[in-house]
Amino acid sequence: MAAIASMIGPTPAVPGRSDVTNAECWLSPIVEELKHFYEPQPEAPRDAFVFYLWYVLGQRTTPARRDAAMAALKRIPALTPDAVWKAPRAKLQAAIAYVGPPEERLHAVIAGVEVFRRYREIERAVRGPILQARRSTRLLRALGPVGAQWMLLAAGDHPILPRHAGVGRLAMRLGVVPPPCCDGARAPWRAARVVAATVPRDVRFLKPAILYLSHHAAATCTVAEPHCRVCPLAVDCAYAHAPVVS
Ligand code: SF4
Repeated sequence: MAAIASMIGPTPAVPGRSDVTNAECWLSPIVEELKHFYEPQPEAPRDAFVFYLWYVLGQRTTPARRDAAMAALKRIPALTPDAVWKAPRAKLQAAIAYVGPPEERLHAVIAGVEVFRRYREIERAVRGPILQARRSTRLLRALGPVGAQWMLLAAGDHPILPRHAGVGRLAMRLGVVPPPCCDGARAPWRAARVVAATVPRDVRFLKPAILYLSHHAAATCTVAEPHCRVCPLAVDCAYAHAPVVS
């Protein structure tokens, strides 16, 4: 992987290729490195309701547990708003229990089901013009801003990189985004905004990028204890080479 420090900044198009920017030049090899390092990750669902379930069930758990819960919902079957609504609660709880205590998540799932049943046009709206799509995702409160941005990308094919704090933290540690001048808690969000503002607006690039970057942030470049010794990005990582302060 080429040295990546100091590559971010204004992003004029690469000469001869109007569809590629300098941002892609630094982010592409990172995403490729992560694709090789991890098992292939299944794409985020393209159906808006299935994406909603996938995202809500994927919070504060591992991708493997989330996928087990999604597989259990598929077996019921309960992957449409009406099917979840009609499904026996005990079966829903048993499926959701794969990701942890089901009460809070079941509440979020049912809240989403009610919205999708009341506003039947959400699926279509998410794929429509961006203002209308954004308004639709705001109805789904359990998504929060990052989940809403991810739904716009995954289900709506809008070229948006979700402002994921894990991606901001990763960018700061790699040294491609200087730590913003704000308190520590807000810094990863600010850094994520900087990254999102500079990446190429190419859906085919952004979908795997957010999937693998957020996976790396959760699995290896964790908040409290980054596993730099096994990290495939360590060679060019500013954090990994920083002198240890005793
Ligand atoms: S080397 Fe360490 S700090 Fe750098 S990206 Fe990898 S896990 Fe994160």
